[in-house]
Amino acid sequence: MPIYEYECASCQAVSTFLILKKDDKARVACKGCGSKKMSQVISRVTYHRAESDRLNEFDPRKPQGEEFYKDSRNVGLWAKKRAKELGADLGPKFDEIVESARTGKILEKYDL
Ligand SMILES: [Zn+2]
Repeated sequence: MPIYEYECASCQAVSTFLILKKDDKARVACKGCGSKKMSQVISRVTYHRAESDRLNEFDPRKPQGEEFYKDSRNVGLWAKKRAKELGADLGPKFDEIVESARTGKILEKYDL
């Protein structure tokens, strides 16, 4: 689904929009304050989409090769998959922790 996130320049709220055609983009306005000064947040959506794909393909019962563990994006994948199978909801806090474990140090170092 072409779902995009936009951040409001006035109140910094992030709103999600389904954008199918150019007209939809013109209608983007903050769901919090109604401001039209919105800028697209690309990374989060792209990241989440990619991760859900990885999660679907990931089989925790299959032995993983060395390459799997070299890829920092696979950190936390196993725990997530297991939790999903058990029907546990780890909540957004878990995502945050995994995310900071994956990227925290690198981001600090290079100030991305
Ligand atoms: Zn706003």
